[in-house]
Amino acid sequence: MKLYQTRANNNENLNSVDFSDALLNPSSAYGGLYAPIELPKLDQKFFSQACELSYEQIALEIIKKFGFDLDICVFERAVKRYQKFDKANEPVEVKKIGENLYINELYHGPTRAFKDMALQPFGLILSELAKSRSENYLIMCATSGDTGPATLETFSDMDNIKVVCLYPKDGTSEVQRLQMVNSAAKNLKVIGINGNFDDAQRALKTLLASQNFKNELKKSNISLSAANSVNFGRILFQIIYHIYAYVYLLKTNALKDSDSFDIIVPSGNFGNALGAYYAKKMGAKIDKIKIVSNANNILTEFFTGGVYDLRGKSLIKTISPAMDILISSNVERLLFDKFGAVRTKELMQNLAQNGFYELKDSELSALKEDFEADFCSDETCEKFIKEQTQKGIIIDPHTATCFKMSLNLTRPTVITSTAHWVKFAPSMFKACKNKELDDEKEGLEILANEFKDLVPDSIKSLFVSKSTHNDIVNQDEIESKILDWIRK
Ligand SMILES: *Cc1c(COP(=O)(O)O)cnc(C)c1O
Repeated sequence: MKLYQTRANNNENLNSVDFSDALLNPSSAYGGLYAPIELPKLDQKFFSQACELSYEQIALEIIKKFGFDLDICVFERAVKRYQKFDKANEPVEVKKIGENLYINELYHGPTRAFKDMALQPFGLILSELAKSRSENYLIMCATSGDTGPATLETFSDMDNIKVVCLYPKDGTSEVQRLQMVNSAAKNLKVIGINGNFDDAQRALKTLLASQNFKNELKKSNISLSAANSVNFGRILFQIIYHIYAYVYLLKTNALKDSDSFDIIVPSGNFGNALGAYYAKKMGAKIDKIKIVSNANNILTEFFTGGVYDLRGKSLIKTISPAMDILISSNVERLLFDKFGAVRTKELMQNLAQNGFYELKDSELSALKEDFEADFCSDETCEKFIKEQTQKGIIIDPHTATCFKMSLNLTRPTVITSTAHWVKFAPSMFKACKNKELDDEKEGLEILANEFKDLVPDSIKSLFVSKSTHNDIVNQDEIESKILDWIRK
């Protein structure tokens, strides 16, 4: 199966590339991405057989149906990465938490956020690809706290890949910061930026666009690539866990073959939600994909009113930082799938030039067939955290936003749970005890006691091991810091 450019002019043939090329070079013509045109279909026989299979086996069966240009052995090695998760044969844990309500825990990987679900297998594939082509890549990322640790972890000591991770100096939780600055592998570089996440992201964009930077990297025989969620290699693995949730509901008789269910997704860059949309198209009986935002509620406006509108908006800092996003990159793939490459190019151009785009009524109706949307304020989110923890259901601030869309359910509904609470101790503390937390290490123990839960050893050990990366720099020093490190 090939992947196609998402933007095009009228009467232009769509350029397509193989999966491996889209992995290494994720940007396509006119500033677009790569996306599938037709997805493989999974039938009833597939689903009844899947009820007997492990997560890894289901993943491989799904991947085989795509018929990508990579040997299946590569994917077999990639999904073996899931054996590092809390339960070796069950990387994802689906649980029933109420009448018609289920939670799909996607955070049991090494860095405790759902980013591991895709980045773990993806990292192995990217490294093997680079090695097979005798090429070297530098992966750059800017993080508000979850992407950084997950990207560093997956590429740790991997061949032919170097990673530079930029984080805002005071912009992450202490656990998230330690997960980054403690990374010991020689191919990883972590740099703190004086500034906030926007500044870190701006610095990253400037570097990615700098010809001088690319030329200097070339001298060391290194090309730039990206491991962010616009890479289709990540989306692939985000389809699978939504299909797995469907299989789980079938297996436990929560659903019959003909019944459908809803999925609630706390959304930022829209990768997770897009995975659910593709899962639906492939045959998982998903009725509505419910998109939850925080106070940065552009997606709520978009899916309810049809206007994607950046005008007069600036980013609001919330207690669910991974959802603090104004431009959700993966919406482009939805536009492409629904309305084609010509219309997508037109809409995305409007956004870049005028700060907004507006769908026609018929287009909005087409989105509403699959999506609903709402948003959740920090105040309401804290209320959900407190309410649920009192019932013994411990949820992080991102997952908590989903409860806004879980009232009055008419069919089985799966909340996509994206992070472990230990990554957000200060917000959890405030929500549950209405107090600021001074010492995060101590706070974790207090909360764990109260929740009758454990702080994972990998998190506890962060506070005792030595940090490797102590650089905190200004924006104008980043480029030379990176080049010095590359040349070493
Ligand atoms: C990244 C992230 C999200 C947002 O996911 P998208 O795929 O970008 O929409 C939500 N919650 C957590 C905890 C995350 O790390």
